Amino acid sequence: IGKICSDGVADSRALMASQAKVDVLVVGGGGREHAIACKLRDSPQVRHVFCAPGNGGTAVEPDMTNVAVGDCDVPGLVACAQERKVALVFVGPEVPLCAGLADACAAAGIPCFGPSQRAAELEASKAFSKDFFARHKLPTAAFRNFKKGEFEAACAYVKAEYAAGREVVVKASGLAAGKGVLMPVDVDEACAAVRTVMVDAAFGPAGDECVIEQLLIGEEVSCMAFCDGAVASMMLPAQDHKRAEDGDQGPNTGGMGAYAPAPCLTPRLRREVEAVLQRTVEALASEDRKYIGVLYGGFMLTRDGPLLLEYNVRFGDPETQVLLPLLESDLFEVALGCATGNLKARVPEVKWKAGAAATIVCAAKGYPGSYPKGLPIKGFEAANSVQGVKVYHAGTKKSEDGVVTSGGRVLAVTGLGADFRESLKRAYQGVGEISFEPREGKHFRRDIGHRALNRPVRVGLVGSTR
Ligand code: AMP
Repeated sequence: IGKICSDGVADSRALMASQAKVDVLVVGGGGREHAIACKLRDSPQVRHVFCAPGNGGTAVEPDMTNVAVGDCDVPGLVACAQERKVALVFVGPEVPLCAGLADACAAAGIPCFGPSQRAAELEASKAFSKDFFARHKLPTAAFRNFKKGEFEAACAYVKAEYAAGREVVVKASGLAAGKGVLMPVDVDEACAAVRTVMVDAAFGPAGDECVIEQLLIGEEVSCMAFCDGAVASMMLPAQDHKRAEDGDQGPNTGGMGAYAPAPCLTPRLRREVEAVLQRTVEALASEDRKYIGVLYGGFMLTRDGPLLLEYNVRFGDPETQVLLPLLESDLFEVALGCATGNLKARVPEVKWKAGAAATIVCAAKGYPGSYPKGLPIKGFEAANSVQGVKVYHAGTKKSEDGVVTSGGRVLAVTGLGADFRESLKRAYQGVGEISFEPREGKHFRRDIGHRALNRPVRVGLVGSTR
């Protein structure tokens, strides 16, 4: 009898829980958003995930639907969230955040995981963020900002830096889809780079302001944190591979692969980085820029300690495809806790799984230059059935012929394992199952994670982070 009664209670609880389930809206259509949507869908509290606009992967996932609203259509996205009565809007890319999507959601009373336009200025303007670092004594490279019309002064600064034995990096201040950073080899190239940004306006209005900063030497690591306006809860550190070809050669891309937890971040460095992220959230709050969402610090591990290269105001892509599969806690709870300003009350400790994850990006041959679209993709089922493997779609769409390529970075194949060797082996096994037609249409790097393979996963980095 006791068993029947307790089963009855369990049934009614399950019924109540299912009735209390909510829907969410994920904004964006890349591999990052596919990973976010899957992790939200896996929450016991979530009934359905809408993706605006989503991709070929989110189109075929159970309990997921694509909606035909562009990820930069702020009024359209708010209207969609209202119509679907979603409990949370989760924003993937930076552009809608910089355009004020979180503010528009707040005005409509919809919880939104992503920073306000004022807080998103941290990514929208490198000149702003460098001044912000200086104001709050956050560790970063020495720099100077130059406004439109100050070309001569900028060149004089560059020449003085080289004369003093320092090399520089030249950056367009505004959003330039990751392309606005120029790394000259000498003083002449540096002056030419300033001309490219400020006079030739190669990056359009993004180059209206130009940041010139000291070249830093070291290993780069991506450190992201869940933020609720007051608290920054650091995730596992990750590293990605930006160059298109093996051996970190070839042109820069959006990212050809990633892995986590990055073993280069020793426990001591981790504490330093964590403190910088927390101080950043406090400094933003002190300037009336309360920070909600993912704060993504790009750090260079230099001889002088970790220095901030930049902040992004959202998850990295493809880092998300390794971080979220390693997240033990309920992403919906974490994101709602952040959006409502009470992360600690909702999730006292954000927990992470032990082990390692690696993701391999399968791109269309030719990317980041020109590449064909519409190539049929085969092998999803076989790839997804490899133990520990999940295929995230990026540039794909559903067509009459099945799923076809529709972008440069097409898929990210993630492998989870006890260590890097195992996660990479699984990820590459998954990649081997995938083919684009014609077969030579697929390009991927064969050396993802080579740095991590030669270092042990540090036990101190795995497990709960707060
Ligand atoms: P950012 O968008 O500012 O992070 O720059 C993009 C990439 O350029 C970084 O991921 C680094 O690889 C490189 N970079 C930016 N600033 C510097 C710097 N001061 N020293 C060396 N590399 C840099």
